[in-house]
Amino acid sequence: MPRTKFIAGNWKMFTTAQTGRELAAAVVKGCAGWAGVRVAVCPPFTYLNVVGEALRGSPVALGAQNVYPANEGAFTGEVSPTMIKDVGCRYVIVGHSERRHGLGETDPFINSKVHAALNAGLDPILCVGETSDQRKAGRTEAVLDGQLVGGLQGLNGGQAQRLTIAYEPVWAIGTGVNATPEQAQDAHAFIRRRCADLLGPETAANLTIQYGGSVKSDNAASILAQPDVDGALVGGASLKADSFLAIVRAAVA
Ligand code: PEP
Repeated sequence: MPRTKFIAGNWKMFTTAQTGRELAAAVVKGCAGWAGVRVAVCPPFTYLNVVGEALRGSPVALGAQNVYPANEGAFTGEVSPTMIKDVGCRYVIVGHSERRHGLGETDPFINSKVHAALNAGLDPILCVGETSDQRKAGRTEAVLDGQLVGGLQGLNGGQAQRLTIAYEPVWAIGTGVNATPEQAQDAHAFIRRRCADLLGPETAANLTIQYGGSVKSDNAASILAQPDVDGALVGGASLKADSFLAIVRAAVA
């Protein structure tokens, strides 16, 4: 069975309660009647409730941008998987490069988040990707391999059915320089091959692998047309309904 394309918007640390509500309502309106694509938006924690209200009754799902790997406890400032589930999220982004590189998150820590999310009934979107220096040094596959082995440690094929992987080359995130369709396809094919080793061939064949990194309305179609690209994790272009919906439309076409 062909994999359904999955487009998710990562709003990062943008929007207010009002602009978030309006953006979510516009995405819901724009997606009405479209079949054959999964859509989610991931607002900041503070607006999950408000945005969740705007999405209620629609096929557009709610996701969070991060999670702490414990259900409760003395972890000041953190948000647990059960809280994220309780507020109505289906998805949670884990291991985004802005957290790996900006905040020092390691593969073992990210792996504990993947497990905590799955145990709470959330569907994790695990981000992996190489830096510009790593690519130039010919280390792209070695870096992806390390992030996959580390991030997927201890997962069985059954749990992994609820997993999405987002290939996000760090040099493409927020830079306006996207991977070429060929670069994306090569990386995605490698990720799928390694996931076949780590999680089993059937799980890998069904695995959704999104591309992320400066996806815009004008480059989405060519990237999404690649055989191993199953969707997109969209940052900047998800903050305007028109540009986000154009990317969703490219996934349906
Ligand atoms: C992201 O934040 O995951 C991302 C891919 O950002 P952008 O689309 O802005 O490059």
